[in-house]
Amino acid sequence: MDLKREFSWSYSRYRCFDFCRTAYHLRYTASWGGWDKFSDENARLVYTLKNLRSIKTWLSQVFRETVKKVFIESKGGNADFNAVNLKKSALRRLKNDWHDAVASEWKNDPRKLNLVELYYGKEDPERIFNSSVNRIFDNITCFSQSALFEEISKLPYHGITDEKNPVSFFLDGLKIWLSPDFIFSDKRGLNLINFCCETGIDGDDWPYLSGIGVLYACDKFKLPEDKINARTVFTGEPAEGCLSVYSYANTSELRNTINESALDMLEFENNSISFSRPEADSKCMGCEFRRICLE
Ligand code: SF4
Repeated sequence: MDLKREFSWSYSRYRCFDFCRTAYHLRYTASWGGWDKFSDENARLVYTLKNLRSIKTWLSQVFRETVKKVFIESKGGNADFNAVNLKKSALRRLKNDWHDAVASEWKNDPRKLNLVELYYGKEDPERIFNSSVNRIFDNITCFSQSALFEEISKLPYHGITDEKNPVSFFLDGLKIWLSPDFIFSDKRGLNLINFCCETGIDGDDWPYLSGIGVLYACDKFKLPEDKINARTVFTGEPAEGCLSVYSYANTSELRNTINESALDMLEFENNSISFSRPEADSKCMGCEFRRICLE
């Protein structure tokens, strides 16, 4: 089957474009086809590096998916929705992922975990795993003391919109991807939850991610913006009972940012680029593509 590459927008794509044009080119153009073991060696290397995840990204994903999984299991009568079961489930997932990562299973299946911190070999693996378990457990403890935890535990299964992430919608003809964590309705309207577990309130991303969620909910559920309660829940903040924030980026400005950045990205992609070794700078040291640029 001949796969066709189509342009679509996501917040992570926008951030990558802003971060480094070389990284953007490698991630969104040069890696194409690298999943095929008969493809060019360079495309396979770029594809491997593109799939590297940081500990922060991995833990954030494990936390989000564990909350949803245990919620669904609890509604099926298989487990109570409580902190103990969340920790047990998260630990199982961490151990499975970890086993795959240290056994380099990603060489056979790129969906398996490949961590930047292991690939570039700077950290003690045992220390990484132990601190990852502690970090997830801290996030679960914080979440289990929050008002949102109480709300979610009382929800019926049919109360949530259970869509497989990522989801997409069209904004001014442009396909947008996002991954909302929980969507449910109650007497206040539609509730849209984004967990922020590995970056705190000082991070740059959460107002935009929440705002993109509002644009999605307006389109998908045909609701005016004032009927949507978008909430970012900071499970990594040491505040008792978790910090919850209801503000988000202005959606008109966000819409302009999306449209303008999409035009910039398309223009960049349509101008042929020959890869030249860039000057190393401080941002390169944490970049997943540094093996290509710096070695
Ligand atoms: S290593 Fe540096 S130049 Fe290369 S893609 Fe990463 S940030 Fe960009």
